[in-house]
Amino acid sequence: MDLLVVGDGVDGVAAEAAAIAGVHRVRIAQDAGFLTQSAGAVVPILADLAEGYTHIVGSAGAVGRDVFPRLAARLDLMPVTDVVAVLGPNRFVRPIYAGNALETVVSGQEKHLLTIRASAFRAAAGGNEAVIEPVDHGDVTTLAKFIAAHRSQGDTPDLATAQIVVGGGVSVGSPEGFKLIESLAARLSAAVGATRAAVDAGYAPNDWQVGQTGKIIAPDLYIAIGISGALQHLAGIQGAKKIIAINTDAEAPLIKLADVSLVGDLFEVIPALIAELDRLGIKR
Ligand SMILES: Cc1cc2nc3c(=O)[nH]c(=O)nc-3n(C[C@H](O)[C@H](O)[C@H](O)COP(=O)(O)OP(=O)(O)OC[C@H]3O[C@@H](n4cnc5c(N)ncnc54)[C@H](O)[C@@H]3O)c2cc1C
Repeated sequence: MDLLVVGDGVDGVAAEAAAIAGVHRVRIAQDAGFLTQSAGAVVPILADLAEGYTHIVGSAGAVGRDVFPRLAARLDLMPVTDVVAVLGPNRFVRPIYAGNALETVVSGQEKHLLTIRASAFRAAAGGNEAVIEPVDHGDVTTLAKFIAAHRSQGDTPDLATAQIVVGGGVSVGSPEGFKLIESLAARLSAAVGATRAAVDAGYAPNDWQVGQTGKIIAPDLYIAIGISGALQHLAGIQGAKKIIAINTDAEAPLIKLADVSLVGDLFEVIPALIAELDRLGIKR
């Protein structure tokens, strides 16, 4: 397996990639033009390199969703997206109907383009020392014009890979109310998630949204606070190993589905929980 690292000043990333078990070779393309992360700049390199490979795999994140359809069009191949399990060289499992069913795709193509949901796979071991080789690339200017990058700031763990996620719903009532969710998350070193209703109401930023049209998460523990459990939200949390739900409504779908359910008012339960964690000096 070879890994491609594209960017500028990414020697450190390439070194980390070379340490991943199973990697034969890391190929690195560096140019200031890649800093815009424009798919138009990356696709030509992948298309050139594709010749020598039977499987080309990327993450089903924002970059993968941008790059792989373009690459597929260029190579005239059908991509298989959001893969959650690999059953064989040409048999892949992926969710359909907003995650309510899984389908097995058997691809008859000679070359396979896959985007995978990283959270569905175990992390690879380290300790490898693969070779790192530069890749020749041509002009990386594209028709797209880079205007600005707006990156979200914060030191909370990444939602897609966090071990614990604390999620809040629209019932927090305000951006200030959402701070309760963030306070609990901070004590548990957890990532913060939100429902689309909470995001639409302006209580939480867009990139915290979990669900069908948000992030897919697979933490060891998901604490869902004031979240009803709509199908579109559940589509994003199916990989959670354990779920704790806190809700005033004993009939809420998430209360019924959770491993541990607490029927109560979040404005009483969460401050009490935080106070207890503080009293016991518990902080991850
Ligand atoms: C095409 C499409 C895509 C969508 N994609 C997504 C998605 O990606 N992610 C997503 O989350 N949603 C998505 N939705 C929206 C989804 O259908 C729900 O509307 C949304 O998940 C509901 O969010 P919620 O649980 O915060 O709100 P509600 O459903 O209104 O639930 C609020 C819950 O809070 C409880 N509650 C109220 N007060 C308190 C209190 N004081 N303490 C404790 N509990 C309390 C209530 O009992 C209720 O269960 C999508 C919808 C569509 C149509």
